[in-house]
Amino acid sequence: MAKEPKRIFLTEDEMPTQWYNVRADMKNKPAPMLHPGTHKPLTLEEMTPIFCEELCKQELDNDTRFIDIPEEVQEFYKIFRPSPLIRAYQLEKALGTPAKIYYKFEGNNTSGSHKLNSAAAQVYYAKKQGLTSLTTETGAGQWGTALSMASAFYNIPLTVYMVKVSYEQKPFRKSIIETFGADIVPSPSNTTKVGREINEKFPGTGGSLGCAISEAVEKAVTTDNCRYVLGSVLNQVILHQSIIGEEAKIQMAKVDAYPDIVIGCAGGGSNLGGIMSAFMRDKLTGAANPEIIAVEPASCPSMTRGKFAYDFADTGHVCPLAKMYTLGSEFMPSPSHAGGLRYHGMSPIVSQLYHDGYLKAVAVEQTKVFEAAELFAKTETILPAPESSHAIRGAIDEALKCKETGEAKTILFNLTGTGFFDMTAYQAYNDGTMSDFIPTDEDLEKGFASLPQIEE
Ligand SMILES: *Cc1c(COP(=O)(O)O)cnc(C)c1O
Repeated sequence: MAKEPKRIFLTEDEMPTQWYNVRADMKNKPAPMLHPGTHKPLTLEEMTPIFCEELCKQELDNDTRFIDIPEEVQEFYKIFRPSPLIRAYQLEKALGTPAKIYYKFEGNNTSGSHKLNSAAAQVYYAKKQGLTSLTTETGAGQWGTALSMASAFYNIPLTVYMVKVSYEQKPFRKSIIETFGADIVPSPSNTTKVGREINEKFPGTGGSLGCAISEAVEKAVTTDNCRYVLGSVLNQVILHQSIIGEEAKIQMAKVDAYPDIVIGCAGGGSNLGGIMSAFMRDKLTGAANPEIIAVEPASCPSMTRGKFAYDFADTGHVCPLAKMYTLGSEFMPSPSHAGGLRYHGMSPIVSQLYHDGYLKAVAVEQTKVFEAAELFAKTETILPAPESSHAIRGAIDEALKCKETGEAKTILFNLTGTGFFDMTAYQAYNDGTMSDFIPTDEDLEKGFASLPQIEE
């Protein structure tokens, strides 16, 4: 029999034309977002001053199973999609595992991540509504870059609040974002009320995603015809990211493969939600039963050690409350290098499915993640992002289990992006100066103390 190809593509005709809304098949829907003042479920009218209207509708839509991807977004997708599905032959060989490992490579665009999938959709709807500017936050910089790319494509001004530690660690992110024509501000800044307050309360802080979100939202609601866009956590983002799993499923079918295990790294849950949705559909409808694994950093363990509770989405408490696995909005992660996985909460969709036992979560330490990253780089030739490398670690660990048991399982993982801006972290690993920070129970208690009391 001919050997299976290493890279599996799709023709334009084979590309999915609809996003899949996993909420439609969930028995227990994700809990509604609550108004931060009244603690009542957020209505469309209350959401539209913050988010673009069509996106608010998607946010609230728990019922429509498949949603057409607008033609204009499909056209944008075709510039950088389909993303290749790659069989990791060299990695398999290096591990000596009988497992078959496939990865979906989402880093093939300038943002270096899967985030462009949702940026393309969100900016399209904003433009269609006639908005005249957008704001957002970015952690490690991939979302800010992706959004600046989409904003340039659809021609709409953008201000990006970037978490200060990342801004300082990755000066070239600023250059790229400015090259695509957007403004970038290190957060917490003195340009917003909430930024000034956070700077006063935590002098010298390097910021967090939670802070940057508060600033971007304040800017959006205080600027005419401006809205805020968010790159992860939200239901609409998981919807847009479903393109990853839909493509992967078709690509695997082309080589008669179907995953026994689906793995994604978990920060806010968007890429995990994106790769798993197509397979979760099979689980929820009883068509198949693949195992789904979320891999999170031991330094920010929202699923494995967090609480399933209503919490503020941001540090400044201007955003709605979401029911999710969380470490508390005042949890300040250590300056761990996995910038994009430093969020205190988790997507309500992923959280609910995890709570209901449809996926499992593991937490991995940073040095183990970089060990996996370097083995992957050497064997598969791609320099992975530290965030993505959590999924690599998870896949390698599953493949090593197969080596022990002799089972030839099929493993699919999402390689969310490339790590060219993360060389300080790689250098620290190579120099042996990288440490593994694991919060103590006491550290976590401080974050939990910031959880709001909500009667359900
Ligand atoms: C943002 C990001 C992540 C984590 O975000 P999720 O919403 O959890 O997917 C993972 N990998 C890369 C490359 C990212 O840019």
